[in-house]
Amino acid sequence: GRDSVKGFLKRNLFVLFTVAAVALGVLLGFALRPHNLSLREIKYFSFPGELLMRMLKMLVLPLIVSSLVTGISSLDSKASGKMGMRAVVYYMVTTLIAVFIGIVIVVIIQPGKGSRDSPVSKSGNIEPIQATDAFLDLIRNMFPPNLVEACFIQYKTVYKKMVHIRNVTVALNLTDALNVTESDLSVNLSRVLHTIQETVVETVPMSGSSNGVNALGLVVFSMCFGLVIGNMKQKGQALRDFFDSLNEAIMRLVSIIIWYAPVGIMFLISGKIVEMKNLAEVGGQLGMYTVTVIVGLLIHGLFVLPLLYFLVTRKNPYIFIGGLLQALITALGTSSSSATLPITFRCLEENNRVDKRVTRFILPVGATINMDGTALYEAVAAIFIAQVNDMDLNFGQILTISITATAASIGAAGIPQAGLVTMVIVLTSVGLPTEDITLIIAVDWFLDRLRTTTNVLGDSLGAGIVEHLSRAELQSQDAEVCNSVIEE
Ligand code: ASP
Repeated sequence: GRDSVKGFLKRNLFVLFTVAAVALGVLLGFALRPHNLSLREIKYFSFPGELLMRMLKMLVLPLIVSSLVTGISSLDSKASGKMGMRAVVYYMVTTLIAVFIGIVIVVIIQPGKGSRDSPVSKSGNIEPIQATDAFLDLIRNMFPPNLVEACFIQYKTVYKKMVHIRNVTVALNLTDALNVTESDLSVNLSRVLHTIQETVVETVPMSGSSNGVNALGLVVFSMCFGLVIGNMKQKGQALRDFFDSLNEAIMRLVSIIIWYAPVGIMFLISGKIVEMKNLAEVGGQLGMYTVTVIVGLLIHGLFVLPLLYFLVTRKNPYIFIGGLLQALITALGTSSSSATLPITFRCLEENNRVDKRVTRFILPVGATINMDGTALYEAVAAIFIAQVNDMDLNFGQILTISITATAASIGAAGIPQAGLVTMVIVLTSVGLPTEDITLIIAVDWFLDRLRTTTNVLGDSLGAGIVEHLSRAELQSQDAEVCNSVIEE
């Protein structure tokens, strides 16, 4: 009737606004570039975009917790178990496919072949973080010792070299691949002073940056909590009502913020274009590498995932994707799947009418651990670095890369450039130099946006697929609710 026409117009108006925002942002960005704005001016100019990021992030923590707790507690444990299994299978299958595509494409295109463009200094005697350490950190972070702390702190294992110089002790953090090498320092000092060196291993809290949020820990806690209060009968009612209404309230805040989103996106994009380094520098191998990642993401996002959706649901995937446009553009603008989460929720629930019991359960988990784009990128980047170093990888090493790239994508938080940090796991697992991450930093801001968009697409199609597969459970749950209402 009239309402649906109005709804349709409103939805498409939003999409139109958002698409226009991207176009305007790009135009504005390129128009301003020749003016060589100072860093300060760029910062002022991007302020409306920064505000959007802050608003979205503000909602993420309460949204993750409230939606997971209500989502899971509103299902009986058998239904949530089945739904969870389907989601995990979907995540694993699609992530592995993404890695596979990445490997095939990078082996075919060979972006890193030929002599290296820029020599990177090798730093000696660094004790790198091992893949095992990173795995353990991943599991460690699933169980945060302090829930409040988990909102801003993550734990990370580091190897520190303690250099005792007579009575002075200098602690140097050796595991940060992007750090300047310390070896010169200690070598020079040891010439004049008697030094003793020892390596110590510590697990330290990382905070202070947006990297700190331990979403994984909060996800695990909320799932367990939801499961428990779902089984608590009458005693759990107050908590179920509380989280349900908290979730409803957050989603209403989302519908306010969404009006501001196009403005924010426009400035996020134009600000980045103004700020970006000269494009001419991104030639040669780096350019080919960029193209390789883009081709891989396009194949995965536009063909493989839609095909999977079609095979399972027999519905047109591109109509489904059309409903997601706003979330995808937000991902492009924010390069963070966490920050995009509020918009993803709205697109799926309002435009695509996916059952709330599914979205509430599946989306927060997906945004935290399911990252197809990141997995694909990690594989391409690692093999690119191997090619640049003229290193031939054997089958075992490629297998190792696919496993560690999957782990690295699970471990990466849904925040800008998290994938670049977890690259260390993949590189060390096959003995590639971690310093070579510096080779790909120049284009990472751009690839980050594209892989985040792929990540969000994968999560959303996953919600559609899991909903379809879980029809039976959802319907029997509906019937139960119906019966108990009639009985009362
Ligand atoms: N920025 C990505 C995301 O939020 C993670 C990554 O760096 O790959 O999904």
